[in-house]
Amino acid sequence: MTSTADLTASTVRRAADAPPLITEADLPQARHFVDGTFVEASTERVIDVVDPSTESVIARIPEGTAEDIDRAVAAAVAAKDQWARLVPKDRSEVLHAIADRLASAEHTDLLSRLESANTGKPLAVSRDDVGMTVDTFRFMAGALRATTSMAAGDYAENHLSVILREPLGVIGVITPWNYPLLMAAWKIAPILAAGNTLVIKPSEQTPLTTLKFAELVADLLPSGVLNVVNGYGADAGARLAEHPDVNMIALTGSVASGRAVARAAADTLKRVHLELGGKAPVVIFEDADLAATASSLRVASFWNSGQECGAACRVLVHESVAEQFVEQLVGEVRALVVGEPTSGEEVEVGPMVSKAHFDRVIGYLERATKEGVRVATGGGALDGPGYFVAPTVLVDVPEGAEVAREEIFGPVVTVETFADEEEAVRRANDVPLGLSASVWTENARRSHDIAARLDFGTVWVNSHLVLAGEVPWGGFKGSGYGRDLSIYALDDYSRTKHVMHHHGR
Ligand code: NAD
Repeated sequence: MTSTADLTASTVRRAADAPPLITEADLPQARHFVDGTFVEASTERVIDVVDPSTESVIARIPEGTAEDIDRAVAAAVAAKDQWARLVPKDRSEVLHAIADRLASAEHTDLLSRLESANTGKPLAVSRDDVGMTVDTFRFMAGALRATTSMAAGDYAENHLSVILREPLGVIGVITPWNYPLLMAAWKIAPILAAGNTLVIKPSEQTPLTTLKFAELVADLLPSGVLNVVNGYGADAGARLAEHPDVNMIALTGSVASGRAVARAAADTLKRVHLELGGKAPVVIFEDADLAATASSLRVASFWNSGQECGAACRVLVHESVAEQFVEQLVGEVRALVVGEPTSGEEVEVGPMVSKAHFDRVIGYLERATKEGVRVATGGGALDGPGYFVAPTVLVDVPEGAEVAREEIFGPVVTVETFADEEEAVRRANDVPLGLSASVWTENARRSHDIAARLDFGTVWVNSHLVLAGEVPWGGFKGSGYGRDLSIYALDDYSRTKHVMHHHGR
């Protein structure tokens, strides 16, 4: 690793004397969770689970096979009719009970520590993840009791039409490593709320909180309703996507995995729900409150160390205020506290999740500087152990540069400039991804107009990365289709049936 101490104020805060985040007793059982219990795997092959702050192996989990997936799907199939038949009130009570179980101080603390140990996230980020996980279950517990539809009535003469909303059956879920517990909850809560059963395959890198979740809620759910199989995407994940008894496959992950899953799902024509990558433009006009914008980006660009699909990673700023804005942004970024999760509550930025991802992020930085992009702060690795990258601002980024088009998924913000509104909109939209964007201006007419013209599933005005359970999250274009959160997710995980009664006499 090359140190960039000359370019950045950041050093990695360490906690030499702090007790370890987790002990053996905190770890979940390193097995698959099938039909209501932890079961032995079909092979003895294991996957190392690594703490990215220290590079030490903290657990070994079984490498799931197609056989393990088949067993879990069979359990989900066997459980689906009973779960689907529960009246909304009863399903709602189970979801509330799950939320209550996770929300206890003891379990929130345990899940937060496990998440930080497995991902390197600051504890504040992990606690936020657990809080949102609880809120997602609470929202879905309420929403499932208040579904709406068109009125029953005679739309053809002497024929009464009734619309039923039914579960899809068994849903396969595949989750990423950046928010392991939260992304699982964004799927599990609406899937269960809509009356489906599921098999989830967490990221092979970050299975600990999904397994612990299963352990904590096992007694609240009938056997087979929730199943967890560990393993790699190309084996366990691919089998789940192609399985003939799985009615829908829902993936949060990269664009490449989204394509693979959609292809595997095509043979059985199962439904596909894809939450893929992002490359969020941050369009800053000359009348924006620049200081407030820079301070918002300190969080919105660097939350979860920038390993965030909605991260405010691509600034497009009006040329007349670019210099002033960069100065303010660099001031904020240089003040970010980088460290291990155990090194204090002030830590804002942790390591990259793995060596492979660290190498990927560093590769982008090295190629950018070779192409003439200028590093305003950061620009490379920080001293190990751990996969730490210095919070980085790249300027003089030409139109179409690799770092301005591709998802880096690290603590890196690029800054481009524009001359007028037309150019701002054209360049903001000129990326293959369409997950989220933001517009910064004090002019309300302009903000409404620009927000309408941006081709992204979420557009914030004078804000970025603020989410709520009531509003949908999901992308356009290469960012996939389907919605997480909100009643739109409930819709996605159910199907409508029209029943028409002839009552003419
Ligand atoms: P990834 O695609 O490498 O892995 C995600 C999951 O897919 C893992 O469980 C992996 O094992 C599995 N997988 C990989 N190949 C597969 C295949 N051929 N068949 C079936 N499953 C397969 O993604 P990641 O690196 O874990 O996560 C980062 C990506 O996730 C980023 O692109 C990020 O933008 C995206 N993401 C999107 C959202 C969103 O809401 N849109 C949220 C979080 C992360």
